[in-house]
Amino acid sequence: MQWAMRDPGFKTQLFRFVDAFPRLSTPSDVHDHLVDYLTQPDVKLPPFLETGLKAGRLAKGTMTKVVTKLISTMGETFIAGRDAHDALPTLEKLWRSGIGFTVDVLGEACVSAEEAIRYRDRYLQLIETLPSLVSKWNEDPVLDTDHLGPIPRTNLSIKISALHSELDPIDLDHSVDALFENLGPILEAAGRHGVFVNFDMESHAMKDITIAAFMRAVETIPFEGGLAMQAYLRSGDDDARWVAGWAKTLDRPITVRLVKGAYWDYETIHAEEMDWPVPVWSRKADTDACFERMTAVFLEATPPNAGEGGIKLALGSHNARSIAYALALAEHHGLPRSAVEVQMLHGMGGQLKHAARAMQLRVREYVPVGEMVPGMAYLVRRLLENTSNESWLLASQSGDADIATLLSSPHKHRSDADPGLARIGGRAERHNLSYSHPAVGDGRPFANEPLRDFSDASTRTTFESAVAAAAVPAVDFGATEADADDAVRRAAGAFPAWRDRPQHERSNLIIRVAGLMRERRDELSAIIIEEVGKDWRGADADVCEAIDFCEFYAREAARLGNATRLGSFIGEHNELRHEARGVAAIISPWNFPLAILCGMTTAALAVGNTAVIKPSAQSKGIARVFHGILGEAGIPPDVAVFLPGPGRTAGARLVRHKDISVIAFTGSKAVGLDIIAAAGLTADDQAHVKHVVCEMGGKNAIIIDSSADFDAAVLDVRSSAFAFQGQKCSAASRVIIVGPGHDEFVDRLVASTAALTIGDPTDPGTDIGPVIDKQAHDSIMGYIEKGKREATTALAMEVPDHGLMAGRHYVGPHIFVDVPETATIALEEIFGPVLSVFKAATFDEALRMANASRYKLTGGVHSRRPAHLEQARREFRVGNLYLNRAITGALVGRQPFGGFGMSGLGSKAGGSEYLLHFVQPRAVTENTMRRGFAPEL
Ligand code: NAD
Repeated sequence: MQWAMRDPGFKTQLFRFVDAFPRLSTPSDVHDHLVDYLTQPDVKLPPFLETGLKAGRLAKGTMTKVVTKLISTMGETFIAGRDAHDALPTLEKLWRSGIGFTVDVLGEACVSAEEAIRYRDRYLQLIETLPSLVSKWNEDPVLDTDHLGPIPRTNLSIKISALHSELDPIDLDHSVDALFENLGPILEAAGRHGVFVNFDMESHAMKDITIAAFMRAVETIPFEGGLAMQAYLRSGDDDARWVAGWAKTLDRPITVRLVKGAYWDYETIHAEEMDWPVPVWSRKADTDACFERMTAVFLEATPPNAGEGGIKLALGSHNARSIAYALALAEHHGLPRSAVEVQMLHGMGGQLKHAARAMQLRVREYVPVGEMVPGMAYLVRRLLENTSNESWLLASQSGDADIATLLSSPHKHRSDADPGLARIGGRAERHNLSYSHPAVGDGRPFANEPLRDFSDASTRTTFESAVAAAAVPAVDFGATEADADDAVRRAAGAFPAWRDRPQHERSNLIIRVAGLMRERRDELSAIIIEEVGKDWRGADADVCEAIDFCEFYAREAARLGNATRLGSFIGEHNELRHEARGVAAIISPWNFPLAILCGMTTAALAVGNTAVIKPSAQSKGIARVFHGILGEAGIPPDVAVFLPGPGRTAGARLVRHKDISVIAFTGSKAVGLDIIAAAGLTADDQAHVKHVVCEMGGKNAIIIDSSADFDAAVLDVRSSAFAFQGQKCSAASRVIIVGPGHDEFVDRLVASTAALTIGDPTDPGTDIGPVIDKQAHDSIMGYIEKGKREATTALAMEVPDHGLMAGRHYVGPHIFVDVPETATIALEEIFGPVLSVFKAATFDEALRMANASRYKLTGGVHSRRPAHLEQARREFRVGNLYLNRAITGALVGRQPFGGFGMSGLGSKAGGSEYLLHFVQPRAVTENTMRRGFAPEL
């Protein structure tokens, strides 16, 4: 630990190893992972390890033993036992030394209904057994009473995310209802047995659900309860006033455990990633100051006498200044010491706890109990805290601590500008593709459009109204071959003028398209939900991606539009220019009905091609709206001609037309290959060779390595396979599990998938909506029937008979195991919610299986072994490889998207090379020397 504090590189790798350790099942796994982590670049090893590693003296067996012992000892410092029974001696010892407890049951992330029930039962068991055991302990007036009377000895802390797997702020009321199925019985039992239950606060996204659930619990169930509140949130002051105001209206007080907050890194990183405002203070001093202000609000609301509502304050802090502030303020309010409780973590701040108890303060330890695997996340958090430069405890223990500094007021920093508001990197700087052009889009560099944050109540309400008002326009889809000819004629006529327009004008028109879509964002999402059955988040992402394509290609076109001087030779001027090809045929699929259509169209238009847009039959409504927006932005009618008609007729004619220069197609392999073949035939009077941009299907695999974090992997596989009913080209349709974790992973995945809600996608709580149409339904069902014969069915989810979108066709998620590599369902793209699971003995074998598909679109690996991640980078041959995350959801500029092999031609949408498809390069050379004189001289 000391070495970890000295060398950040070593600390990172050590903690990563500790995190992966419990999953490692053999001595050689432990050995290989440890060596792997410790030999990463930038790691400075402590001398004993350095020599051990160099000499190759770290024998596998011994090393595993030593490491296991070390990590268990570390674990025992912070975790009191495997279960309450195991922890009881520790709890009793604490009590005898004058310290109370609150028990926290550690567990894996809860990803299914079964896991939630297991948690509920563990809590029920604690509630039923602990009170009689602890009642035998000695009387301790400091621990047994507060200023209002007796308090329960048995004190439990719960996390609501453990009691239901599908809590989601997007559907707050329903989430709270669902939560009460398991929470209700716990609180009722707690009330009967006189057990105190505290609601822990988790991530910011869960805050509103946690508070709503707590309020409902207190108002409807007789039990003694508390709520943790976090001072690191910028909303801390408002949260405190809100909860205190409510508590005063009650007939009994509630407890607030005021903490600073344990998810600072996550909140900061997540917000940065989403481009949302960071919900936490960026500086520790601001958190400390907020803690004191919240303390004041809560002490103001502390009732002096029993029989009234209000707040009883518990301070969850190891910071002596924060505690002292609260005590002084309590005294100022005339409250006795027993009105405030001090809570600290088990395994930390021992001296501080005993000093507090010596002052007759009520001290309670937060005592986690649980197994090693699920306990690891907790353990790593504690290790981080204990090695953090900003830890008060650490500072107070280092020999050179200065008391005045340690106790100094955090408030003096308040007036400084808060660097957090400026964000860590700044939007555009985080892109290496942040091209900006002074005359394009006000000179601002590209940045992704942030997705809606549905944990925000007003965002939800506005979106809901848009969904309720959605109107998909009627479109006559009868365009014929003659209409196709006519469309091409018009677009060809408009080409020369559009090509010759100044680049910045074209780019700014495309940026105006983005602006108009931004103004109508929720309306466009609502149309997508209604027309193709996407869920709220999926539809919102579709619209954001469309906006991104416009903003990105407009800027990239400006870059490409500049002639580039090649070399610098005197007497010779060389330049490379890019010029539009002519008329583009845009043929799009229905599954990203706005994004893909918009991306292909604006790429073609931005660089000076005109376009004939042939949308998919299933998404013609949103396509019509998009075409309207192009016109509204000022793009001339013949520059972008709309051709709503069937692929067989209008589409097939379009791609064969001699005046089409470039075809941008996204869709199935069969149609894509047909188009490539058709484009290769040249009419006698054709003036150019057609260029085809072709993005086709996928049969994408995720490898689950033996050291994978199953908590994350289960959810990533679930969302990759089943979001939008598996109708994404990037969707996971194969999972390859390495080693002995196969059955455990499948069990968790099946249970977790079964917890998804099949329903009407206009309802925010729906996870699985309808598939696109009857034909898709029948085709997917055909594969499912094959799957039942070819493999073992692990999950066949039934479609409920109520709550569905009227007139649509549904297929429940299916998971097959023991799938032979040669099975049809293992080879063909199914384009529906069907997942095949395979076993691999080694990571090498898994890679071979993953690479065996002819499709090469996306792929994923969940592993905590650095060498395997590196091997995957080199050898997992797909267009988009995702490590330790879901394999869908590519972002423009950040994950340029597209595959090769039978998935496409390879130059990626949303990347800087994409526009090259739509232009032809021309090199121009001028001899600038005249009679021996060159202007450069
Ligand atoms: P599809 O191939 O059936 O249709 C795509 C488009 O082609 C439609 O507009 C259709 O009308 C048109 N079309 C059909 N026959 C045609 C013909 N003979 N000539 C010209 N045009 C014709 O695909 P779909 O069902 O709309 O979309 C699903 C498929 O798209 C899946 O295979 C999926 O993997 C793929 N897809 C790929 C990507 C990618 O980026 N690689 C992205 C999304 C979807």
